Amino acid sequence: MNNCIFCKIVRREMPSQKVYDDDDLLAFHDINPVAQVHIILIPKLHLVSLMETNDSHTALLGKMLLLAPKLAKEQGLNNGFRTIINTGKGGGQEVFHLHIHIIGGNIPPMVRRD
Ligand code: 5GP
Ligand code: ZN
Repeated sequence: MNNCIFCKIVRREMPSQKVYDDDDLLAFHDINPVAQVHIILIPKLHLVSLMETNDSHTALLGKMLLLAPKLAKEQGLNNGFRTIINTGKGGGQEVFHLHIHIIGGNIPPMVRRD
């Protein structure tokens, strides 16, 4: 047993507002949303970040990316959405269990150039 928050959500030791659940993946609403829709999509397998992935994870990573637009549409994001994967401390990652943010609604450009 590890102490990871997202593993605790997978093991149902912590509550979450689930939007998707299968043998490999889980998706739930972010506890602190930055937009009207903010979903967290995770593999049930504890992978720390993209930096810890390898060729054995090809199918799992592909499955996550293919699921993202389906979840976005289910949330009403018919016009598009943003996916973010923060990797490592330098990438702003705070929860060290690989996850994809699926964000949408009225969102600004990601990078502003003045
Ligand atoms: P990171 O910065 O690691 O890419 O993003 C972690 C995300 O997980 C943050 O957006 C944060 O709000 C969310 N989060 C952290 N703890 C919990 C939790 O216990 N439940 C849920 N649903 N989201 C969480
Ligand atoms: Zn974990």
